[in-house]
Amino acid sequence: MGEKKFARVPSLVTMACAWSVGRFMDTFYAELGQKKIVGTRCPQCQTTYVPPRSLCGCCWKPLSKWVTLKDQGELVNFIVAHVDVRGEALSQPRIIGMIKLKGGGGNTTPIYGEIKGVAPEQVKLGMKLAAVWAAEPKGELTDLSYFQPVGK
Ligand SMILES: [Zn+2]
Repeated sequence: MGEKKFARVPSLVTMACAWSVGRFMDTFYAELGQKKIVGTRCPQCQTTYVPPRSLCGCCWKPLSKWVTLKDQGELVNFIVAHVDVRGEALSQPRIIGMIKLKGGGGNTTPIYGEIKGVAPEQVKLGMKLAAVWAAEPKGELTDLSYFQPVGK
């Protein structure tokens, strides 16, 4: 048993990668670029999924009915973050919410988004929020910049 030896070969490896997010998410992003939020609705249980899914998680029916939701909704849950994803302290707390958008029917899955324009101690479940869009949408998740209280 000898000492393990490792050969070192200096090199530079470039890995160009591209992947598809799938037909449903492609449509979701393309519609965000038009300042629209879309989902898919189950023909059996009427659940509207936002972002869209191809199968219903409740009854496993294929989903093909597209629904355009309003860019306003109601806050159904939230957290106030004081650290970022690396655990570093934030200079100001950030509010991340789950927003149930209007237009999807009674059983609509919530979308996640940052909430601005309200102090953390003033955030309330059920408050009405409206999306604030990027000035120049590009068909990316960041097109939906954040949500703020309606009327701000
Ligand atoms: Zn269903």
